[in-house]
Amino acid sequence: MTVLFDRIAFIGIGHIGSSLARVIKRDGLARRVVASARNQATLDKAMALGFVDAVTLDPIAAVKDADHVVLCTPVGAYAEVSRRIGPHLKPGAIVSDVGSVKLAVVEAIAPNLPPGVHFVPTHPVAGTEHSGPESGFDTLFEGRWVILTPPAGTDEAAIARVEALWRATGCMIERMDPAHHDKVLAITSHVPHLIAYTIVGTASDLEEHTKAEVIKFSASGFRDFTRIAASDPIMWRDIFLNNREAVLEMVGRLWEDLALLQRAIRMGDGPALERHFARGREIRRSVVVARQHIPPAPATSSGSANAKKTTTTTTKKNKKKS
Ligand code: NAP
Repeated sequence: MTVLFDRIAFIGIGHIGSSLARVIKRDGLARRVVASARNQATLDKAMALGFVDAVTLDPIAAVKDADHVVLCTPVGAYAEVSRRIGPHLKPGAIVSDVGSVKLAVVEAIAPNLPPGVHFVPTHPVAGTEHSGPESGFDTLFEGRWVILTPPAGTDEAAIARVEALWRATGCMIERMDPAHHDKVLAITSHVPHLIAYTIVGTASDLEEHTKAEVIKFSASGFRDFTRIAASDPIMWRDIFLNNREAVLEMVGRLWEDLALLQRAIRMGDGPALERHFARGREIRRSVVVARQHIPPAPATSSGSANAKKTTTTTTKKNKKKS
């Protein structure tokens, strides 16, 4: 595999950052991988898992001499992080992020980058409900979409390098306007999470008040909502605060459709309900045809064996260096 970057710096090395870093280490896509986070415990875990060569609590030290910086913190931290690292970026460096929202992220990061630094925002449409460096895996992006939203006039060579990096993860790539991205993701990801958080909250209140057996009988549909609602609260707080308009528009449409269903149930309008539910089946079939129905999971146990091998080599290498 070709070396694509000399030094890649991750700011934030949780579920998404560590999954990308695992691919970079596995395939030797960068000569050196450096990570920064807020807590030493996170960095210690990343180091022990073996997909980084060096760690530091100081984001400025992390980005020094990096030719690619990937921001992998929750969306709400991007403005502050980019403000701190901006003046210390190497001329010609490429900055990208993995934020689930794009318009607000572009507005938060772009003004903090000096001229001569290329900004290529990305969103890997992949992930699980788990967080932290231990939850990532190198097959997370396989067969998934990664959306790029580069501002007009972005250097094509920089975009091509970021695309090459992501392509190595086995993903499919699409370019989109950030506002369009936010609308599409509002209905496919953000509002479904909002519904999951709501239904789980409502059920939990019910259980408290009526002692209904919600958890006991959770296999009947509720279980899938609980998985989604187990997602990181900070990450999702930031997504809703930063994609306010698109989410509110989709919630408005949802209210209307829900009211129609409510009315059909009240009026005993079986055909209306059947028509609506039949559409659900059709949509599910399209998702299966597009091969986006399989939940992400580590490929095989040999994946973790590889990770272990890398750990040993990397740690040894680092020990030699230090
Ligand atoms: P995560 O597992 O919780 O990891 C977040 C990382 O960011 C941690 O290493 C954390 O370090 C670090 N961090 C948090 N605040 C920071 C700050 N102010 N300065 C420096 N580091 C900071 O989260 P994730 O799931 O990887 O999500 C990261 C990004 O990916 C988010 O922007 C999210 O929108 C996007 N995304 C997530 C998914 C998904 O399904 N998870 C999918 C696509 C995109 P500490 O542990 O030290 O706090």
